[in-house]
Amino acid sequence: MTRHPVEPFRIKAIEPIALLPRRDREHKLADAGCNLFNIRAEDVFIDLLTDSGTSAMSERQWGGLMRGDESYAGCRNFFHLEEVVRNLTGYQHVIPTHQGRAAEHLVFSLLLEKGDFVVSNTHFDTTRANVLYRGATPVDLPDPSCDDVAGEYPFKGDIDCARLETFLDEHPGRVKVCVLTITNNSVGGQPLSVANARTASAICRKHHVPLLFDAARFAENAWFVSQREESQRGRPVKEIARTIFDFGDGCLMSAKKDGLVNIGGFIAVKDPEFAARIKEALVIFEGFHTYGGLAGRDLEAVACGLEEVTNPDYLAYRAGQVEWLGNRLAEAGATIVRPVGGHAVFIDAGALYPQIPPGEFPGQTLAVALYREGGIRTVEIGSLMFGEIDPETHEPIYPPHELVRLAIPRRVYTESHLEYVARTFAAIFAKRESAGGFAIEYQSPFLRHFTARLRELPANTHARVART
Ligand SMILES: *Cc1c(COP(=O)(O)O)cnc(C)c1O
Repeated sequence: MTRHPVEPFRIKAIEPIALLPRRDREHKLADAGCNLFNIRAEDVFIDLLTDSGTSAMSERQWGGLMRGDESYAGCRNFFHLEEVVRNLTGYQHVIPTHQGRAAEHLVFSLLLEKGDFVVSNTHFDTTRANVLYRGATPVDLPDPSCDDVAGEYPFKGDIDCARLETFLDEHPGRVKVCVLTITNNSVGGQPLSVANARTASAICRKHHVPLLFDAARFAENAWFVSQREESQRGRPVKEIARTIFDFGDGCLMSAKKDGLVNIGGFIAVKDPEFAARIKEALVIFEGFHTYGGLAGRDLEAVACGLEEVTNPDYLAYRAGQVEWLGNRLAEAGATIVRPVGGHAVFIDAGALYPQIPPGEFPGQTLAVALYREGGIRTVEIGSLMFGEIDPETHEPIYPPHELVRLAIPRRVYTESHLEYVARTFAAIFAKRESAGGFAIEYQSPFLRHFTARLRELPANTHARVART
């Protein structure tokens, strides 16, 4: 049994959290229509909804906020960020944006037109939405190993290079960019190997398709490579990250993940002409190119965060903590996605509640139980989030797995917080056979999981519920 890694920091400022009494949690759930997005953060005890923008900043970052230079043009923090990003990625043209999706919007508005394609190992939700918004089609070509949720493959985040080659051959001139998401968020924070980046890059170059990295978790990706890829074993994380970036033409970054900040992002590219066009669009949508919609102090926090995130002690702790939680949950009876990814543990709620059909949202049953039992907030990634109605047959289509994601904010929770999460899960596991599902009372036409209201169904009924 692996030990929880010792946190490589000590705590200088604290933020109180409190567990509401059980009766109050019941009321909050009822008021929220059993949708955890409708619950106030202060009514949550342990918040594992997302790892995005939820990091704790270091003393250097907080100090950096005081060094913010709020000049409109040419603030010193931009030059610090530019130097750090050039050094990490090798891309000379660094353009700040207020977050990752703003970077996607800018780049895709320049690259894509109606009828174009974008290929990826897997598009993240906002990336997919920004491609669709341009009238283009996102095509996911994940490695086949990620179909096997429990299979211990080291690089489930890879792109399927055989399908990539075929797709580019069959659509000459129509694929405008290849986006490699590192780590591959949508398949569970799984890494992409250096070997895969090398092959994908050669295929893209042969077909004159630019290659961009969606680099939100580039450091976690490089850490897994240093642990799992024979040819890279033991190389410093910073060098591995640089090797990967060298295969591409640029990157899009949500700094809310491996930037270790609460807001921020950037674009970095090799081509000066493309950079000039991005800056022209940036000044309309985000701001002048030395601030990109961020305050000078925010740019400084991103620069410092990027300097800290490749620290091997930090990354060993980070990956070790997430894996430790995964193992504790598995010991308590959970079926989890293997290997444990870089930023979250995914529990298979379909396996936990075989009596609840997908149309009654077993993932939501677990997410609600974690809040009811322990004030823990997570997110359902299953039929509530991705279920659809077939436009022709009007039959429901369900995703292949009913998962619940426990995303771990960076540097925020300690071993005892996560131990509490595992203990809470054990109590839920003991009562799993008497759990029931949910029916939707209200839903919006798009992204319904954010706003849906749900009604709890009595336990152990198998009555089919018409989906409204
Ligand atoms: C979070 C994320 C984005 C979007 O970034 P925001 O900062 O939330 O706008 C894009 N890609 C990946 C892989 C992400 O995880």
